[in-house]
Amino acid sequence: MNGKIGLEEHWAIPETLQDSAGFVPGTFWDELQDRLLDVNGRRLKLMDEHGIEKMILSLNAPAVQAIPVRARAIEVAQRANDALAKQCEEHPDRFRAFAALPLQDPEAAAAELRRCVTELGFVGALVNGFSQDESMGGGQEPLYYDLPRYRPFWAEVAELDVPFYLHPRNPLPADARIYADHPWLLGPTWAFAQETAVHALRLMASGLFDEHPSLKIILGHMGEGIPAMLWRIDNRNAWVDLPPTYPAKRKLAEYFTENFYLTTSGNFRTQTLIDAMLEVGADRIMFSTDWPFENIDHAANWFDSASISEGDRLKIGRTNALSLFGLDR
Ligand code: MN
Repeated sequence: MNGKIGLEEHWAIPETLQDSAGFVPGTFWDELQDRLLDVNGRRLKLMDEHGIEKMILSLNAPAVQAIPVRARAIEVAQRANDALAKQCEEHPDRFRAFAALPLQDPEAAAAELRRCVTELGFVGALVNGFSQDESMGGGQEPLYYDLPRYRPFWAEVAELDVPFYLHPRNPLPADARIYADHPWLLGPTWAFAQETAVHALRLMASGLFDEHPSLKIILGHMGEGIPAMLWRIDNRNAWVDLPPTYPAKRKLAEYFTENFYLTTSGNFRTQTLIDAMLEVGADRIMFSTDWPFENIDHAANWFDSASISEGDRLKIGRTNALSLFGLDR
């Protein structure tokens, strides 16, 4: 399929490059570095070869979220966003951008999002899970965005009316004891999805979407496992006739199907796509590759031949993203 749009597509600036070093063995690091630092060279060529018209680019992970010194987090976010804006200028019809945000400081994050959207033409934000702030537990306490301190930030996101992509990161050591001696479970194998799914469920249960019903959250990797668990999340012990114990007013599945969008990033499996389509519908799923951590040809060859209708392929591959980000206006 030609004209595909990908929206979980990463790059790095020199200051954040090393954050990606642990995700591949040393022998693959030279290759990954080259892929991460490139935007308008090899990446563009691969997009042409595999029918990808546009990518919405974002910084690698955890990057800004893992910088506990607030001033430094703000500075790196601004520098990364300015650098990304410059890269996009070279081929404005091929590249758009998600803002990196210093959510250690909710006010600074709101201001940076506003700057990126109104001055740099960015189409939303991509944030790598919880943030670390030196003033909270010496930077070793994960700050999740359902906390009350983030409500003014969310008001700004709603006001700007741009999607917020909640991207994975690994848990901090104190929250990763279940993975002790099993390092292969960290990252994309399991811990990324676990960490991100719990964060997303916290947002839903907090009442955030009752206060701001127009918020649009994007999850990668076909929904970080939530579609497969969606029924059970709301229906455990269904014979116990009591109201839920969380602040939100509605069932969690209602927020998931009204406030969330999913992408195919790094999860190229037709069975999993069809399950997500059955839970949230083809209108809320979008193609992505997760380049450079996954291969563009792996993503495109799978998606182009997946056993779904051509109408759904067009929506998921292109038109859902066009309308969500206003790229057709
Ligand atoms: Mn990713």
